[in-house]
Amino acid sequence: MHDNSLIEINREAFESNWQFLKQHFGKKVLISSVVKGNAYGHGIKPFVTMALESGVTHFSVFDCNEARQVNEVVKDRAEIMIMGWIENTSIPWAIENNVSIYVFEKKRLEAAIKSAKKLGKKVKLHIEIETGMNRTGFQPKEISSLIKYLKKEQDHFIFQGLCTHYAGAESIANYYRVKNQMDQYPKLYTRFCAEGLTPIHRHTACSAAAMMYPETCMDMVRIGIMQYGLWPSPEAFVNYLNVSKKHIDPLRRVISWKSKVMSIRKVTQGQFIGYGNSYMASENMKIAVVPIGYAHGYSRTLSNQGRVLISGYRCQVIGTINMNMMLVDVSEILNIHIGDEVVLIGRQDNLDLSVASFSDFSNLLNYELLTRLSQEIPRIII
Ligand SMILES: *Cc1c(COP(=O)(O)O)cnc(C)c1O
Repeated sequence: MHDNSLIEINREAFESNWQFLKQHFGKKVLISSVVKGNAYGHGIKPFVTMALESGVTHFSVFDCNEARQVNEVVKDRAEIMIMGWIENTSIPWAIENNVSIYVFEKKRLEAAIKSAKKLGKKVKLHIEIETGMNRTGFQPKEISSLIKYLKKEQDHFIFQGLCTHYAGAESIANYYRVKNQMDQYPKLYTRFCAEGLTPIHRHTACSAAAMMYPETCMDMVRIGIMQYGLWPSPEAFVNYLNVSKKHIDPLRRVISWKSKVMSIRKVTQGQFIGYGNSYMASENMKIAVVPIGYAHGYSRTLSNQGRVLISGYRCQVIGTINMNMMLVDVSEILNIHIGDEVVLIGRQDNLDLSVASFSDFSNLLNYELLTRLSQEIPRIII
């Protein structure tokens, strides 16, 4: 059991974010809580446990392994949707557990229908259509034969959703591409409906699309990053401030990451610190060793760049991030002891280290930084 550090999940912050999202999207829009990537590093089990208690009724994951983890927590108390990968051999498990799955290829669709027939139970399907991202989704030229097939097999599936995904709604640079996708979707939706195939849900929006292009919300949205209290991009945040005429961030960060000072030493001017020669002490310095490194998800690109909070001071990471340790400059802290709290993400006294400040330094997306946090780190709900 890793005890070098601890991740805290703040229930109040989550509930406040969820409340904001519900209010913003309105009663008619179902919000699915996206918990892929180990709930964006928050930990699937603790996060889903908390979200369920706070009234979340729908979870989305990428693959079957994640779906199983969510299912262990929720049992029959919420819907689970797999948006990506599932082995054909796992489809029966999905059907038996009422887990809905994306289909975007004829082969998987046929496998799903076959399993449904064998089990004598309908499979819950989300038909994903290609609108311009060119990743997954049935191609325009496949739609006719797809519709024909679905009509023939109508007794063996529940048409849970008709869905697509936008190719970068968080950036204005992709405006025309996303707008074009938004034009494609309703045409395809109408085509399905005209053939008597009406999905229960129309869902296309992730956080960025839902905030930047409200018409993409339809009757269901798939929200990941914002429920964790982070914006999909600075543009999305600025856009919200402009449109809402508000001046404050309605979101609160849910995650904090804390470790401890492991050792302290003095280094004299002119000596190199840590591996190699990436950092030379320009004066006499005091250094603290923190037992966290890239093996735990603290990016190596934060070498000589990252900041941590100790004793209410913002301290700089010096030298390269090691596999299991980092060194920080604590010269200005007179009273520092082994065992003192080190905040890697979160608040200490009046200072705050955001996930974004992290990613600004390292050019990593919020998303990537969070999902890299090791599964070994214990997570607790506070
Ligand atoms: C990850 C994902 C989302 C959620 O994206 P956020 O930007 O975190 O809101 C929505 N839809 C699909 C298909 C996804 O893969």
